[in-house]
Amino acid sequence: MKIAVVGTGYVGLVTGTCFAEVGIEVTCIDIDQKKIDNLKQGILPIYEPGLEEMVSRNVAAGRLTFTTSLAEGIKDADVAFIAVGTPPGEDGSADLKYVLAVARGIGEHMNDYGVIVTKSTVPVGTAAKVRTELEQALSKRGVTIEFDVASNPEFLKEGAAIDDFLKPDRIVVGVSSERAEEVMRKLYKPFLLNGHPIIFMDIPSAEMTKYAANSMLATKISFMNDIANLCEIMGADVNMVRKGIGSDARIGTKFIYPGIGYGGSCFPKDVKALIKTAAENGYQMQVLQAVESVNEAQKEVLFDKVKKHFGGDLTGRKMAVWGLSFKPKTDDMREAPSLVIIEKLLAEGCTVSAYDPVAMDEAKHSLGNRITYAKDQFDALVDADALLVVTEWPEFRSPSFEVVGKLLKQKVIFDGRNIYDPIEMKESGFAYHCIGIRTAH
Ligand code: NAD
Repeated sequence: MKIAVVGTGYVGLVTGTCFAEVGIEVTCIDIDQKKIDNLKQGILPIYEPGLEEMVSRNVAAGRLTFTTSLAEGIKDADVAFIAVGTPPGEDGSADLKYVLAVARGIGEHMNDYGVIVTKSTVPVGTAAKVRTELEQALSKRGVTIEFDVASNPEFLKEGAAIDDFLKPDRIVVGVSSERAEEVMRKLYKPFLLNGHPIIFMDIPSAEMTKYAANSMLATKISFMNDIANLCEIMGADVNMVRKGIGSDARIGTKFIYPGIGYGGSCFPKDVKALIKTAAENGYQMQVLQAVESVNEAQKEVLFDKVKKHFGGDLTGRKMAVWGLSFKPKTDDMREAPSLVIIEKLLAEGCTVSAYDPVAMDEAKHSLGNRITYAKDQFDALVDADALLVVTEWPEFRSPSFEVVGKLLKQKVIFDGRNIYDPIEMKESGFAYHCIGIRTAH
């Protein structure tokens, strides 16, 4: 089979590369000339563990190519994936201009039957709009070419994207014809051999599934953060509560860790978009509205602790920050809680010295030279009044606290991810503040 993937970001590049990895001929297309030039030289636009090697292996094998030309890329493709961004518009709804522009472009250039698949996260009804764009473009050309549209939302997690794609919990595909189902089943066959399920459904249900999944995950996070905040007030330990409830199989142990709120390019925008879709259709998503407002407040919890610890005045303090990306193993800074925390620290007159293993270049786009970027995690601590742990990168989990204590001006840690043991911290002489546990002040 031959496929085209339009958009070479986190989703498109992983999708294209993983299909090439199983022997399919893939062309990845992007409008960003620099991205494509770099990719041709083996330079990736994103950090994703294992992706660089996989890209170069498949490029060398001739199965993976890159172009900015949509016409060239979709020529003779059995399937064309649309994997461009769907950022939130000003009113919170998903902005479909990139998706629809690609659909129009495909209609302007396709030469034979193909399945046009939305892999981007798009609201219910988008596949119908994609179909209309294609029909209009074909009719302008005065040609009749059969095509199908399908919805195949992506569930990969940044930081574990390759594994998630190659060994998916499930593949969801929305189709409206047997022919499209057959093509999609054939395409995904290599991924199904080890029992990974493919679930076919109607297109609106597939579109909704992605939003429901992300909204459910965001709900778990906000729920747990709400419980954590109450634990702290009431003198309970959220870590104990988490273990206590997680052992119930109906609740489960995953995704119930309290912290400083969700970020990233998906949860915030998808929760907003679902609230908006509902509102436009006369329905109020009350749970999700609360999920969102709890999350907004949670991003400030760590800062509030810092301010309280230092008696309400942070002027002239130096804060060390470990972790900038919205979660470990990615350089993605979109909606990262670190940005909210750092902006608040700067506004209060602090200086900030930050370290992140891979996201510092990305962080510079929003923070510029308003903070200093340390050469390693310990360098960030020199003469700082406190350490804030913002992203739980593995290398931050077990540092030498002796060294940490010597480098900091004061032995104070604010742990936004609960990665340290409060008792050990107390014994090592640190004032330790975390989420959902009343600790030494
Ligand atoms: P991204 O911003 O990393 O990549 C989008 C790419 O599309 C960019 O390289 C951009 O240059 C390109 N592009 C834009 N317009 C184009 C056009 N007309 N022609 C060709 N290329 C074009 O975005 P992403 O994080 O990969 O997300 C893509 C979609 O997948 C979004 O809808 C997102 O919600 C969804 N999604 C993302 C993730 C994730 O973890 N990032 C997971 C699942 C689903």
